[in-house]
Amino acid sequence: MTTKTLATQKSSALISALFVALIGGTVLFVAGHAQSAVLHDAAHDIRHATGFPCH
Ligand SMILES: [Zn+2]
Repeated sequence: MTTKTLATQKSSALISALFVALIGGTVLFVAGHAQSAVLHDAAHDIRHATGFPCH
């Protein structure tokens, strides 16, 4: 009984850690993606504004 409870707590903590890591990774990935898109658009606008051949 005690062993089972301990194992359940351990697996629960493991799942929580994995879940938090997944959320953190997703947030970082989405934020990094959005940020690079913003940076890309800004660089793109500057390129067009300066008449630099782009596409
Ligand atoms: Zn362009």
